[in-house]
Amino acid sequence: MNAPHVLIAGAGHAGGRVAQALRAAGFAGRVTLVGDEPYAPYERPALSKDMLVGAKGVSDLVLQPHAFWQDEANLARRQGRIVKVSPERSALLDDGATIDFDILVVATGGAARRLAIPGADAPEVRTLRTMDDCLALRPAMAAGRRLVVIGGGVIGMEAAASAVAMGMRATVLEGGARVMARCLPPEGSHWLQALHVQHGVSVETDVRLDLLARKEGSTAGVSVVGRQAGAVRTWDADLVLVAVGIAPDTAFLEGSGVALDNGVLADENHRNPGAPWCYAVGDIANMHNPLYGRHVRQETWRNAENGARAVAAAIVGAPDTHVELPWMWTDQHGRNIQVVGMYTPGDLVVSRIAPSEASGVLLWLHEGRVAGGMLVDCGRERKQLEALVRRGAAVDAAILGDPAIPLKELAK
Ligand code: FAD
Repeated sequence: MNAPHVLIAGAGHAGGRVAQALRAAGFAGRVTLVGDEPYAPYERPALSKDMLVGAKGVSDLVLQPHAFWQDEANLARRQGRIVKVSPERSALLDDGATIDFDILVVATGGAARRLAIPGADAPEVRTLRTMDDCLALRPAMAAGRRLVVIGGGVIGMEAAASAVAMGMRATVLEGGARVMARCLPPEGSHWLQALHVQHGVSVETDVRLDLLARKEGSTAGVSVVGRQAGAVRTWDADLVLVAVGIAPDTAFLEGSGVALDNGVLADENHRNPGAPWCYAVGDIANMHNPLYGRHVRQETWRNAENGARAVAAAIVGAPDTHVELPWMWTDQHGRNIQVVGMYTPGDLVVSRIAPSEASGVLLWLHEGRVAGGMLVDCGRERKQLEALVRRGAAVDAAILGDPAIPLKELAK
């Protein structure tokens, strides 16, 4: 049998890396990479950091080596959107073309969620997921202008930090009780919120939004109208960034036989349980994770990076046994914050080094076992912490909280 034809749907971080990893693994078949963005595959983290403040340009973000994307011996690149996949293994593009394939790798990430309230379609209201989003935001981010960020998750907080660094006035409106609540314990959120306030960002929590309205008689700028603690509140903005997460879009796979649930389902080798010819990787993959005994969909750089290698290995018949432990980093106001594992409300949080000007280490125990941690300017502890979480190490809270006992000792 001839080497199979691999179609990669989505030419972002994970899709691009799958193509590279296939060639690195000696894959001899055809590779077609279809993506709807007009760029070679690129990494997104700088979009809310260095790229947003103008310190990086498009080519800095493109996956290295650049030459790989120009060489047709590596892959065929097509710009377009896949709108339908059939069980007979054919993909339909939005321009009417079809591509037959043997193996499909779904690497379509997610689309930025929008607000379903009146006024949310005003031109001042933006999202930040793509290079084009970032390029369109940059000229609007001028010193003295008012940015209102809706959503205190990681991207909203990063954008607010970038905005004040550029001399903007930034306000974050968070619907929940605290910022970055999906991955940080309350102690971590409170420290982060205080850091932002110290740098001039106004952070408001428990905000319910009602609408965005144009100010009477004005042609630019909007008022964000909502409620907080039962009172009507209004925040005036020149620019509004909606940062309320992403939604996996799997409509194009309906009817294809590919099993879907909160993204594309995958086993620990990235293979779809409904269609053995389909793999999923990156933000779209809702993968069975043996560390947690359930499916976990991760939206992180490392998950895209490592997952791509694992998919390529599985396709060439040498599946690797790597299991992705959640890990992410964020840079805000010059501080590096890394989060390992998952925080579940009710976990016992241990302050090993209270986050301060210098550094910080918060760890948490889930049912007596180390389940994760937040490292502030303390990335050197990451590997030891990961070892503890992977092992589900049972460590006494007093010992875990004693900075005199190196994590390395506990990880042995
Ligand atoms: P993507 O990179 O989004 O690629 C998916 C591609 O598929 C896109 O180009 C999309 O347009 C395309 N596509 C979608 N549907 C179709 C279709 N039907 N047909 C064709 N093409 C399609 N992670 C961290 O760990 N740390 C960070 O600091 C960090 N910062 C971030 C900052 C920003 C602003 C963003 C947006 C993300 C950040 N991330 C960070 C997350 C990280 O970038 C993502 O997890 C990673 O990009 C996921 O890669 P992916 O390939 O799954 O998705």
